[in-house]
Amino acid sequence: MINCGSSSVKYQLFDMANETLLAKGIVEKIGEEVSVIRHAARGQEVRHEARVASHEEAFAHIRRALLEPPAGVISSPDGIDAIGHRVVHGGERFVASTLIDDTVIAALEEFSALAPLHNPPNLVGIRCAARAFPGKPNVAVFDTAFHQTMPRHSFIYAIPYELYEKGRIRRYGFHGTSHRFVTLRAAEMLGVALDNFRAITCHLGNGCSMAAVAGGRSVDTTMGLTPLEGLVMGTRSGDIDPAIIFHLARTEGMSLEAIDALLNKRSGLLGLSGLSNDCRTLTQAAPTHERARLALDVFCYRIRKYIGAYLAVLGRVHAIIFTGGIGENNAPIRRQILEGLEPLGIELDPAANEARGREATISTPASRIRILVVPTNEELMIARDTLAVTRKQ
Ligand code: ADP
Repeated sequence: MINCGSSSVKYQLFDMANETLLAKGIVEKIGEEVSVIRHAARGQEVRHEARVASHEEAFAHIRRALLEPPAGVISSPDGIDAIGHRVVHGGERFVASTLIDDTVIAALEEFSALAPLHNPPNLVGIRCAARAFPGKPNVAVFDTAFHQTMPRHSFIYAIPYELYEKGRIRRYGFHGTSHRFVTLRAAEMLGVALDNFRAITCHLGNGCSMAAVAGGRSVDTTMGLTPLEGLVMGTRSGDIDPAIIFHLARTEGMSLEAIDALLNKRSGLLGLSGLSNDCRTLTQAAPTHERARLALDVFCYRIRKYIGAYLAVLGRVHAIIFTGGIGENNAPIRRQILEGLEPLGIELDPAANEARGREATISTPASRIRILVVPTNEELMIARDTLAVTRKQ
């Protein structure tokens, strides 16, 4: 699978006969003076620096790394059957993973207006992969697809309806591949049929979002038209009063671009703490750093508020699921989010909550709602979808 960003390409090669990871790597800082190329396979990691001027060149490096010694894992390009691509925005058109052809590419170009930072590099990745590995099927796996089951009342903004009709301005939600992966896995762990499964999923990484899941389907999520809405994130504000934007423009004379950068890159945990966008740093600093504490308080409170909202949306839930770098590893944050929710049937087990980076039930046996840690694996989900879509052809 390929995850192609504006200056990096990540890849993982799976043997889907037994879902084993054969190789993974990344080409970073594409277009800069010195790019970093890492490839791990056969128990060894190769890292070197070189100038990689374009994504096209990055794919040439990836092809060589997969094919050639010392850490090559296939003897010819035919060792690859299909390629799955992470695509951020699938608009309203793509409700599931899809085989890529010219019409799909044209549709993705159209959605680039909705995700200007992400879809264009995703498209570059699709084109480069088709050239580096000619004749192989390529499959698009969308961050938005899982949330396409949201009912209208949860995805429509209360602005003139024509803006939705004409410009498709609505809530889409993101991280869908991760929310779907942990939903499937948690239902399996709890032995509940997916059609009946009701859960609140919390993907807490650099970007953070939650989803309300009923019958195994997303019925609400915290991100919106873009990944800026909802939870407090590493550098993104999440929910704010939109009038703050007009206020900043009027009183500070800020341009739209400057406000965009402020809300996306200088807000969230970083903006609040003035210290870091990384939860680890903030958790360590919190005892002596007032603003690190404030940042974590606001972060946890927002999640707690959405748990309450989604309990009301869903009525009854089997589980609250934590995933993503923070959700999987940061026990103090999980505790702070859930503290005091016992009257709602949510009882954290402090000893079990020490679990880091592995599947675990962290609620007490008496807790009406189970609390689970489920490490996400978006790459494997993409590989599974790629297999399923190409098998259907
Ligand atoms: P991304 O969203 O870019 O995939 P991650 O899911 O790794 O990134 O999320 C990054 C956040 O996860 C950071 O705030 C970091 O503190 C936290 N995190 C990642 N790994 C760990 C770990 N092993 N222990 C504690 N926190 C972690």
